[in-house]
Amino acid sequence: MKLYARYFGKYKYGFFAAVICVALEALCDLMGPTLMSHIINEGIGGGSVSAVYYWGLRMIFITALGAVFAVSRNILASRTSQSFGADLRYDLFKKILNLRQESCDRLESGSLIIRMTNDVTQLTQFANGTMRIFFKAPLTCVGSIVLASMLNFRMSVIVYSLVAVVGVLLFISMRLSHPAFRRLQKSMDKLNTTVEEYLMGVRLVKAFGTYNEELDRFREKNDDLYRKGVRAQIVITLISPILTLAVGFATGAALLLGSRLFGVGLAQPGEISAFIVYMTQILSSLLMITNIFNTFVRTRASVERVSEVIASENDFVNAGPEPKIKGGIEFRNVTFSYPGGSGLPSINHLSFNVKPGERLAIIGPTGSGKSTVAWLLLRLYDVTDGAVLIDGIDIRDMAVGALRRAIALVPQKATLFSGTVRENVNWSDPDAPDEKTEAALKDAEADFVFRMKRGADSLLGSGGVNVSGGQKQRISIARALMKDSPILVLDDATSALDPITEKKVKANISKEKRTVILITQRCSAAMDADKILVLDEGELAGWGNHSELLETCPIYREIYESQTVEVV
Ligand code: ADP
Ligand code: MG
Repeated sequence: MKLYARYFGKYKYGFFAAVICVALEALCDLMGPTLMSHIINEGIGGGSVSAVYYWGLRMIFITALGAVFAVSRNILASRTSQSFGADLRYDLFKKILNLRQESCDRLESGSLIIRMTNDVTQLTQFANGTMRIFFKAPLTCVGSIVLASMLNFRMSVIVYSLVAVVGVLLFISMRLSHPAFRRLQKSMDKLNTTVEEYLMGVRLVKAFGTYNEELDRFREKNDDLYRKGVRAQIVITLISPILTLAVGFATGAALLLGSRLFGVGLAQPGEISAFIVYMTQILSSLLMITNIFNTFVRTRASVERVSEVIASENDFVNAGPEPKIKGGIEFRNVTFSYPGGSGLPSINHLSFNVKPGERLAIIGPTGSGKSTVAWLLLRLYDVTDGAVLIDGIDIRDMAVGALRRAIALVPQKATLFSGTVRENVNWSDPDAPDEKTEAALKDAEADFVFRMKRGADSLLGSGGVNVSGGQKQRISIARALMKDSPILVLDDATSALDPITEKKVKANISKEKRTVILITQRCSAAMDADKILVLDEGELAGWGNHSELLETCPIYREIYESQTVEVV
């Protein structure tokens, strides 16, 4: 519960105010039966109308006061818990934006969404419950026991035996229901994961026609959840009638003993009826306490899941010198294996050097580590061994913000956000003049945008669902061209373009006066770069320009030959 402790300081006043209201409310509730016993004994039993008025008015006043406290604690509890929830969500989102890439890989976006929504709601409800009923139940319980014993010392034997029996019953039920609820929560998580996965691959599922398999998978998880839910509920639903039965017996015993005591003048009718009301209060508060424990089980799972995010490692610190970057890049004997990966190095003793303004093409088969070179350059991951240098400075010695501002990336998987084309392109410069945006779109050969009805102000759906893969890529290229950075990295950014458009885009990019790293699988895209790096299984397999590589690098020659159509 460290998580709650962290926020407690901020909300302590609201919390204490709510708890004080709850305590006063419980006090008012507790006074009711005692006042009632006075009305019965002195008013009805003693035949005095003025006593009825006297005690009756007090009872009304106390009840009204109790209602006022109940309303206040509800308002206080809701305000405090909701604002706690909002704070927690904000902090979580901030944390997620600032997570180190390896933590993002580990936590997965689907699970992060559930943590930010379901789990935070659970935590908020628990906080709300704490302030509303969690304090009231034990107070009412103990208070009722004390007041009942004060009312009639002899009859309190019944209360003690009732509490002992019910206590044992509750303990047993909790032992049974705790694991049931924990399993229920696990099952719920599994179901959520299945739905998440399906939603992410919805087109694929349709394309492969695996509708029935998906449905079966879901049904399996859903049935599991149903069975666990029933099991957890049975334990809970069994306990309530058993408890009611116990109280019924106790009431009978109280009436029996009460009438005996009344016969010998040791108890009065008012006491007996008040006594019975106290016993009902004890029962309902004990039931509430069981509920609290069950909520606690669920909340504990949520706390763990939220805390895991909070405890994850932050991105690299954004402190240190912010040099003016010209764009020279050097990999010095770099070896790297992914933290959550197979353990095999994805980059192996790789060294190369690019001067500012040069154009480097990286070519190699899939899985050879091309994208990894881009991630290492952006310092999404730290190298395992060796160093990445920009303008001769180790990137670990500069501010991460400055480093990433100096690099414009077109990722392999073009990602667009909901909003207009303009908003997507102007990402790095929201107030850019129209001419600049248009020029970037033209250079990215994204002329189709101007033919849309509302031009650059056309709306894109979430993730760019309403444009094709190639169109997405071109908007994504325009976005990178907009960024005034000395280094431009295109990771397989023209893979969805036809060869003619690709050629045009490449020609436009070669006008750029910046260091360009062009990652590709096609020789046609790589061949007129200043330098070509051939990667194979994370190792340097060739280095030079096109004609040199044709001479010296068998892998390059093979790629080239496989991609050129032989004219007979
Ligand atoms: P390329 O871009 O050349 O297709 P990558 O750089 O994406 O290749 O991947 C190189 C190797 O690193 C592959 O073997 C891949 O399985 C592994 N890899 C890539 N991303 C991750 C990751 N996030 N976690 C673990 N391993 C990864
Ligand atoms: Mg790649």
